[in-house]
Amino acid sequence: TAAERPATSPAAKSRKKIAVMTSGGDSPGMCAVVRAVVRAGIFYGCDVYGCYEGYSGLVQGGDMLKKMEWEDVRGWLSLGGTLIGTARCMEFKERWGRLQGAYNMIVAGIDALVVCGGDGSLTGADLFRSEWPSLVDELVATGKLTESEVAEHRHLNIVGLVGSIDNDMSSTDSTIGAYSSLERICEMVDYIDSTANSHSRAFVVEVMGRHCGWLALMAGIATGADYIFIPEQPPKAGEWQAELKKVCMRHRDKGRRKTTVIVAEGALDDLLTPITSEEVKDVLVEIGLDTRITTLGHVQRGGTAVAFDRMLATLQGVDAVKAVLEMTPDTPSPMIGIVENNIVRRNLVDAVRLTKSVATAIEARDFEKAMSLRDTVFVESYDNFLAVSKHDDGSVMLPEEKRLNMAIIHVGAPSSALNAATRAAALNCISKGHNLYAIQNGFSGLIRHGSFKKLSWLDVEEWHNLGGSEIGTNRSLPEQDMGTVAYYFQKYRLDGLIVAGGFEAFRALHQLQAARGTYPIFNIPMVCLPATVSNNVPGTQYSLGTDTCLNTLVNYCDAVKQSASASRRRVFVVEVQGGNSGYVAAYSGLVSGALAVYTPEKEVTLRSVQEDLKLLHDNFEHDKGDNRSGKMFIRNEKASSIFSTELIADIIKEAGKGKFESRTAIPGHVQQGKTPSSMDRVNATRFAIKACDFIEDWNSRFAYSTSQAEAEGLDCESELRFVYNRGTKHYLVDDIEASAVVAGIYGSAVMFTKVTDLWKTEADHDLRKGKTIHWENLNVVNDMLSGRLLLRRS
Ligand code: ATP
Repeated sequence: TAAERPATSPAAKSRKKIAVMTSGGDSPGMCAVVRAVVRAGIFYGCDVYGCYEGYSGLVQGGDMLKKMEWEDVRGWLSLGGTLIGTARCMEFKERWGRLQGAYNMIVAGIDALVVCGGDGSLTGADLFRSEWPSLVDELVATGKLTESEVAEHRHLNIVGLVGSIDNDMSSTDSTIGAYSSLERICEMVDYIDSTANSHSRAFVVEVMGRHCGWLALMAGIATGADYIFIPEQPPKAGEWQAELKKVCMRHRDKGRRKTTVIVAEGALDDLLTPITSEEVKDVLVEIGLDTRITTLGHVQRGGTAVAFDRMLATLQGVDAVKAVLEMTPDTPSPMIGIVENNIVRRNLVDAVRLTKSVATAIEARDFEKAMSLRDTVFVESYDNFLAVSKHDDGSVMLPEEKRLNMAIIHVGAPSSALNAATRAAALNCISKGHNLYAIQNGFSGLIRHGSFKKLSWLDVEEWHNLGGSEIGTNRSLPEQDMGTVAYYFQKYRLDGLIVAGGFEAFRALHQLQAARGTYPIFNIPMVCLPATVSNNVPGTQYSLGTDTCLNTLVNYCDAVKQSASASRRRVFVVEVQGGNSGYVAAYSGLVSGALAVYTPEKEVTLRSVQEDLKLLHDNFEHDKGDNRSGKMFIRNEKASSIFSTELIADIIKEAGKGKFESRTAIPGHVQQGKTPSSMDRVNATRFAIKACDFIEDWNSRFAYSTSQAEAEGLDCESELRFVYNRGTKHYLVDDIEASAVVAGIYGSAVMFTKVTDLWKTEADHDLRKGKTIHWENLNVVNDMLSGRLLLRRS
C-alpha cells in the first residue's frame, strides 16, 4: 500500500522517466531501437528504463523495470532479436493486468512508454493510454496509491514503433525487421534456386504472414518466382489450380528449368478456404514437376538486422524520445513510421484501426478494399509482380501500332541492382509487345561495335539475383561520338532509352539531351535510373545498389568491430567508397556504430581529430571490457587530402600511448556487392517498370506518325510545338526537355525531374554529386548516439 513505500525524491521526479519495451513477436532491429531510445533519452536528460519481457515486465514490475545506462546498450546495433526480451502477455489483456502495470509504472516514477511491437502490442498500448486516468483513479480509490503520489502521473505518454517482420502496419511503408526478414527469405530461396536448377525441380516456399502478404509479395518479386499466394489477393476457389499450372507450364515451355512458388502462411482462396503448401505441391506434381516444400519458419526472424532496419530503428528510436518530450496531454499517441525516405509521425489509433480493417475486409471477402487499405507501394508492387510473371500470357499485349522500341544502357561503375532492373524492364516490355534492346558495354561498346541485343525472356529471367552487369558497363560517354550514337538510335528506331548508372549516367543523359538540336532522334523520352553504390545522382535521395553496398559494409564493419573488441584495445579505421559523396560513410557509420565518421562535406581538422581522440579515450575509460566494445572510425575515401586513413590510424596509435592501438581496413570493390539485396531487387523492379511506363506514356500522349498528323490536319513542318523525332514520328509537346528525366525518390515522393533543371541547379559538376546534402541528419544522430554531443556539452 501507499504507506509502505519510501517517498519518491523530488529531484528524481523532475527528470522525465521513459520506459522502452519490445513486445509481441521479435524482429531484427529491436535491439537497435532500445539502444537508440536509451541513448537519445539520456542525451535529452531523461532516465530510461528497459521494461523486460514486454507487457509481462510491466505487470510484474520490480526488477523487470530496470534503469539502463549508456554503456548497457553498447554493441546492440549488431545484435538480432531483442536483449530485453519479448513476450505475449495474456494478463495485460485483462484490466487487472493493466492496473498492475499502471501501479508499477507510477511506483517507478515512469511517465512515458515507448512500445516497439506489432499491431497487437500497439493496440494494448493505445488501450492502456486511454484507460490510464481511470486506472489511476482506481489505484487511489483502493488505497494503493495516494493523491500526491499520482499527482505527477495523471497522463501517460505512449509512442509506438512498429517492430514486426510481417510489414503489416498501415500508415508506414516499412516496419522494423521486415527487410531483414525479406533478406533471409531471399538468401534461402537463392540457395534453393541452385539445387532446383540442377534437378529441374519445383519448390513451394512457405513464408510468414498470417494476415499480410508483404513478405510473400516482395519475395516473389525479388526471387523471380513464378507464382505467389497472398491473403489480400486470393485466387478464385476451384480455379487457381488450373491457373497455377498454366503459368508454371508456360514458363517451363519458355525454357525455365526451375519453378518457384511462394505461399504466405495466411494464403487462402476467395471463399476464405486456406491454401496450404501441400495443396500447391499436389497441383505442381500433377503437371509432372518434381516438387518439394520448404517451410522457412523461424529462420525468417533470425539474425542481425540489415542496414535499412538498423537505420529505421535508430532514427525512429530517436524520434520516439523527441515525440515523448514534445507531447502534451492532448497530443494523440503517435506511431513513428517511414514514407518513402522520410521518418513520419502518424496517429497510432488510426494506424492500428486501418491495419485491423484489412483483416476485417479479408474476412468479409472484400479483397479490393483489403488491397486499397494497404499502402500504395504494396498495390504498385503487386502490379509489378504481375508485370514480371503472370502477364506474359498475352493479356497485356498492346496493339501493333503502340508497340515501342526501347533500349537500356549501363553507364559507370557496376552496382548490384543493374541486372535486376534490366530483367524487370525486359519482362515488362516483352509482355506488352515492346522490344527492349540491351546496348552492350556502355557507350564505347555502342560506338565501336554498335552492340545492340534484343533481350529475350530466357536471356533475363535469371537476372533477379545477379550482381554486376550482364550487358557490360563502363564510364564512357556519348560525347565520344555523338553522330555514331545517333546513327544507331536511328537504325534501331528507338522510341525510348533507359540509362542506368551513377553520376556518369546522369551526365550521359544530359549530353544526349543537349545534342537534340543536332540529332533530332534524341528527342525520344529518356530516363536516368540512378544505380550506384555512392548514391550521388542529383535529383534523388535513393539509388539502386546503395542498399547492397550498405549491407556489405554492415557485415564488414560488424566483423571488424568484433575483431577490435576481441583484442580489447584495438581501434579500426575503415575506408569506404562514395567518391565525393559522404552518404555511404554517414549511413554505414550510423548503422554500424562508428565513433567518428569522416566525410568530404565536413572539413577534417586537427581540432576535429583531437575531439575524436577525446571521445575515444572517454570510450575506453567507460569500457566494460566485454566483447561488445569494438571501436571503429569510418572515413570516406575522399574525406581529406591530408588526413588519410593511414594518418588517422597512426595518430590514434600515437595518442593511445600503449593503452590502445589501431589498424586500417579497406573493403574496396567488395562494396559493389555480389548478390543484390532484397530491397535493391524490389526497387530495381519498381523503378525499371516506372521508367518503361514513363516512356510508354510519353509516346502514347505526344507521338504522332506523319500519316496520323496529316490525317488530323496537323502540319508538322510549321507547327512550332512539333518536335521532329525521326522521319516517321513527331512529338507534339510544349516542353521537350521534360522528356529527359531522372527517376528518383525525394523526401516522401517518387518523381521524375528534368535533367536540364538538375544540371543547372542541383548538380555539383566538379564533385560529381548533387548539391543537396540530404543525409546530414544521419551524422547528427550518430554524433548523438556515439556520445560525441554529450562530450561536447560537458
Ligand atoms: P506480431 O506482429 O509479432 O504478432 P504483435 O504485437 O501483434 O506482434 P500480439 O501477440 O498480438 O503481437 O501482442 C503482443 C502483446 O500485446 C500481447 O501478448 C498482449 O500483452 C498485448 N496486447 C495485444 N492486444 C492487446 C489488447 N487488445 N489489449 C491489451 N493488450 C494487448
